[in-house]
Amino acid sequence: MTIATPTNQLSLSLLADASSRLEEALKYVSISEDALGRLKYPKASLSVSIPVRMDNGSLRIFQGYRVRYDDTRGPGKGGVRYHPHVTLDEVQSLAFWMTFKSAVMNLPFGGAKGGIALNPKELSRQELERLSRGYIDAIADFIGPDVDILAPDMYTNAMIMGWMMDQYSIIKRKVSPAVVTGKPIMMGGSQGRNTATATGAFYVISTLLPHFDLIPEQTTVAIQGFGKVGAALAELLAQAGYKVVAVSDSQGGIYCDRGLDIPSIRQYKNESRSIKAVYCEDTVCSIVEHEVLTNEELLALDVDVLIPAALENQITEANAHDISAKYIFEVANGPITSAADRILESKGIYVFPDILVNAGGVTVSYFEWVQNRSGMYWTLEEVHQHLKPKMVEEAKAIWKLSQEYDTSMRTAAYIHALNRLGEALDAKGTRDYYTNGKN
Ligand code: GLU
Repeated sequence: MTIATPTNQLSLSLLADASSRLEEALKYVSISEDALGRLKYPKASLSVSIPVRMDNGSLRIFQGYRVRYDDTRGPGKGGVRYHPHVTLDEVQSLAFWMTFKSAVMNLPFGGAKGGIALNPKELSRQELERLSRGYIDAIADFIGPDVDILAPDMYTNAMIMGWMMDQYSIIKRKVSPAVVTGKPIMMGGSQGRNTATATGAFYVISTLLPHFDLIPEQTTVAIQGFGKVGAALAELLAQAGYKVVAVSDSQGGIYCDRGLDIPSIRQYKNESRSIKAVYCEDTVCSIVEHEVLTNEELLALDVDVLIPAALENQITEANAHDISAKYIFEVANGPITSAADRILESKGIYVFPDILVNAGGVTVSYFEWVQNRSGMYWTLEEVHQHLKPKMVEEAKAIWKLSQEYDTSMRTAAYIHALNRLGEALDAKGTRDYYTNGKN
């Protein structure tokens, strides 16, 4: 296991690449030097070792992180990721994105993120519980309902959030549901949180694609990543009439030019943990005609809409030239590097950025936090009544900025977020006080 040391230098590749997105947006935003200086570094980064007693009696030490990037607009907010490749650099860049995502959605939150380097599939459920509780023991003084609020991310789920909330409550000796969102409903979770990222992405896609005169029935879609978010979004799109022709998971993908039967594929995946091109009637699934694809091939498919919904750094300088889709909606965090962005832009491909497209998750997390603090719980209808206008409003505002300044949607999203962040940072600043407003 490699153990990274905390750093606030921008020399690390992922964070440096993530923050390079600011450069372009800065041309259109009048943000003070002070505010910009603050946004260049994570506010606080915590690196912890978590000892876990394994089922066979041995002790294993796991490396965990929590980064609070910025909390100017409110407490830090962001998920916790369990993945073998988790590093401090990755968590810092994910926390950076959360800062901008919260600002894009005008949520009263800053940005944070956490992670533990492990392969969750290698641990028993009991080991996973001890690890999750051990993580909270290690970071309890660094988080809190008014300080930094956790949530699910890659390979973490409601059950794990429940353990984390319980452990925090044990440590603090008071029930503290608002320290974690994405909890089981019975522990104070919100209706609709589980499907919020997919639902939010669907609202963004349905708001923006009509600008290009696309008719769902004639629009082909390929989705990389058939996990919780990718699969739910595939189903919403198929229900709305879009032709979802390809999906993939980490093992590879399937393609059928007539469109795939998404509910059948989800049913098969739930039962067998793998994806196959099937059509199911009740419990009987039969294979339908299809082609098998690698993830690389899926990304290069000649479709109208491409949706990367897996890991970061999937479209890079190495494969950006092969992309044929006309519209890309980033459902994963950071699936396109900044170098690839430039290539896609020169090819006339529209990229709709993660900090808008996948923001439905954190938005319903905000609703969950509000419900926990008020003690009033909402129905699923009420959650959707609040989510839809928020996604549509911010998508339209970013579209308008991109038209006004003739920029990419990504740059427009950063302009939108920077306007809000800059104002908040300056409102807290003291420069005017010292300089009498002269510079
Ligand atoms: N992990 C999700 C994200 O990257 C959700 C974060 C949250 O709900 O706080 O947006």
